[in-house]
Amino acid sequence: MEQLKKCLVSACLTGLCTRYDGQCKPNPTCLRQLIGYHWIPICPEQLGGLPTPRPAASLTGGDGYDVLAGTARVIDQHGNDLSVPFLRGAAMVLTIAQAQNIDLCLLKSGSPSCGIAPVPGVTTALLRTHGIEVVSF
Ligand code: SF4
Repeated sequence: MEQLKKCLVSACLTGLCTRYDGQCKPNPTCLRQLIGYHWIPICPEQLGGLPTPRPAASLTGGDGYDVLAGTARVIDQHGNDLSVPFLRGAAMVLTIAQAQNIDLCLLKSGSPSCGIAPVPGVTTALLRTHGIEVVSF
């Protein structure tokens, strides 16, 4: 049997309702790109232990790389510091990526975890730091 290449994909892009508001963001272009891959849905915020739904959160004082360095934080709409669960979730995604020999991740734009431009999220920063390619949808 042909061995398919593997990739990780943000769970909310595949139609799983993992977003902070309990919704999903299925993306037809992303789903087409998954054809031919053995793909694994991941949600860093859920893997970090946060519930769904959950308060909206944003990067404060820098980007995902700065959160990794400890010079920026992830703060939710009530002022709670969620940096620890965001870092934990990013580490879980990296563990899965390395265990599965993943070299491509398709992640959701505009997220403090999965985002890429204009501000890289925490998971994106950690994956890229370890040489894993991240593409934004
Ligand atoms: Fe989607 Fe990523 Fe947010 Fe989870 S953390 S809901 S996968 S954008």
